[in-house]
Amino acid sequence: MTAFGIDLGTTKSCIAYVDDAGHPVVIRTAPSVVYFERKDSVVVGAAAKNAALLAPDLAVQLVKRQMGRKDADYAFHGTRYTPESISALILKELAAAAERRLGHPVRDVVITVPAYFGVAERQATRQAAEIAGLNALDVLAEPVAAALSGPPAEGVRHLLVYDLGGGTFDISVIRVDGVDASVICTDGDHRLGGADWDARIRAYLLEAFAEQHPGLVPTADEVFMQDLWIKAEQLKEELSSAPTRDKDLRFAGAVARVELTRRRLEELTADLLDRTMKITQETVERARRHGVTEFDEVVLVGGMTRLPAVAARLEELLGRTPRHHEPDLAVVRGAAMFALARQSRQADRLGITAAEAESMRSRRVTTVIPRGFGVRVLDHNDPLARTDPMRARTYVIHLLPAGTRLPADSGPVTFTTVLDDQPVIEVEVWEQSGRDSSEELADNTLIGRGKLRDLPPELPKGTPIHITFFMGETGLLTVHAVEPVSGRELRFDLQIGGLDQAAVDKAKTAVARHDISS
Ligand code: AMP
Repeated sequence: MTAFGIDLGTTKSCIAYVDDAGHPVVIRTAPSVVYFERKDSVVVGAAAKNAALLAPDLAVQLVKRQMGRKDADYAFHGTRYTPESISALILKELAAAAERRLGHPVRDVVITVPAYFGVAERQATRQAAEIAGLNALDVLAEPVAAALSGPPAEGVRHLLVYDLGGGTFDISVIRVDGVDASVICTDGDHRLGGADWDARIRAYLLEAFAEQHPGLVPTADEVFMQDLWIKAEQLKEELSSAPTRDKDLRFAGAVARVELTRRRLEELTADLLDRTMKITQETVERARRHGVTEFDEVVLVGGMTRLPAVAARLEELLGRTPRHHEPDLAVVRGAAMFALARQSRQADRLGITAAEAESMRSRRVTTVIPRGFGVRVLDHNDPLARTDPMRARTYVIHLLPAGTRLPADSGPVTFTTVLDDQPVIEVEVWEQSGRDSSEELADNTLIGRGKLRDLPPELPKGTPIHITFFMGETGLLTVHAVEPVSGRELRFDLQIGGLDQAAVDKAKTAVARHDISS
């Protein structure tokens, strides 16, 4: 059975597969919008996006921003939905489109996620697939997918992936070593994207309309405003290939013809592009601190990188011409190639050479934890640690630091008791909350705790306690603490993010009941 790559995007999603000739083929691209038309009846995609303009209360957009959040839920027509089940509705629509095209059921998929997604968000994405009745072979970082969409190359290569989409900006440094790919560092602005460019153009168009028809106030007119949204985006896209364009704006019998040049568009939005370049420069500097001083390739991803100014500024900054081939499809194509690689049986029927098939098959992508996990410990350097340990400084030691590959095993790490005759040890598990690793409690979040009780009496302070963290690829963290002399131990599991299995099963039944149209 064919395996599919799915780019489950913030504003737009797509599905692709690799055809018999070994070429990735994109089957469907649709806005990531779900419109809850009636009970158990939803619309997904372009029609949902249009319906959302008129009835925004019945539509969900940008659900990706809520993935992995336990406190996010929605209710429509008396039914509650989690971000996972809304994403599942999008996935089902894409799968249905692929089934119609290829005439057989879709089951195995690889879904891409942003590189900054933590274990919780990745697990939520896997669960969205499960709720949709799909089997997620893997979740793959988007910049890695983009890097894999290019021709395979020998040796260790470093790629800078600049991704500017409709609603988000991401920049990542990827290391590809033959068949092994991983993210070295990543940053971005998740509130910056094409929509901000569109807003500037709308303001410009409105001003021009007001200049030509000073007596008219069209802003309260829904149809005019909808048309303005569409024309602004069209203008932006057309100016990627034409130096100048004009649009007619009509209101109350009046017409205003407004011209916009590419140059003027670049002036109107210069600060937005500057923001992406500043983050890019900072990321390049961080990569340098990780020993990456040169890039073998600069890869453009996202529809917005079709703006000529993007490639020009990057070339200025990095001295290298970016790879620019259908940037809005690079991620889904790479995901399809990776899905094929994960499904070795399939390569046999491909019209590609045995060596190419083997190279694809053996491609591995390492899942690393983007944020560290650790325990809270007492700072023995604080003088209070001796006199009043309960008030002394505590901090977090990461047993699994950011960047650790999954599955990960910290091995036993030795800590010590703080008091004489200490009867109980509280093991607190903390997850790094910021981008950079820090031992301060304020930069970490408490995610769970357990108690190692009934320690034998008369243990002197400083008695060793071994703590081990093990994390599997689905984000299940097992914590083990043991006092080695008595053998007293504590073991508990924490599912980092996602829903419990009962909730997944329930959502699966609920989603299966829905009639989905596009
Ligand atoms: P993506 O999420 O990667 O599909 O990017 C979508 C964004 O890219 C939207 O803001 C589109 O308006 C924008 N976009 C698509 N095509 C072009 C183009 N030819 N020139 C400029 N922006 C574009």
